[in-house]
Amino acid sequence: MSKPELIKFGTRWELDGDYLRCRICRRPQIVSRVMEDFQHASGCAGSGAESNPWKTLASPITAQIAKATTPDTDNSRDLGA
Ligand SMILES: [Zn+2]
Repeated sequence: MSKPELIKFGTRWELDGDYLRCRICRRPQIVSRVMEDFQHASGCAGSGAESNPWKTLASPITAQIAKATTPDTDNSRDLGA
């Protein structure tokens, strides 16, 4: 997931302290319930989005950390070697 995808995530979800909140129905889910499916209000138009927004949020962050802490094996290409 790239930065634009995080921006798109932010159009659907709002981080509110230790809660993620659906921007449509305003229902929250606390981070300690990260392994449970998100429960939207009845009829929420956002219910077709990801069932676990915490995982969607965490994925690009952990990917960026891994990328930043893993030696770049493609350096030789950048140096023209
Ligand atoms: Zn909702």
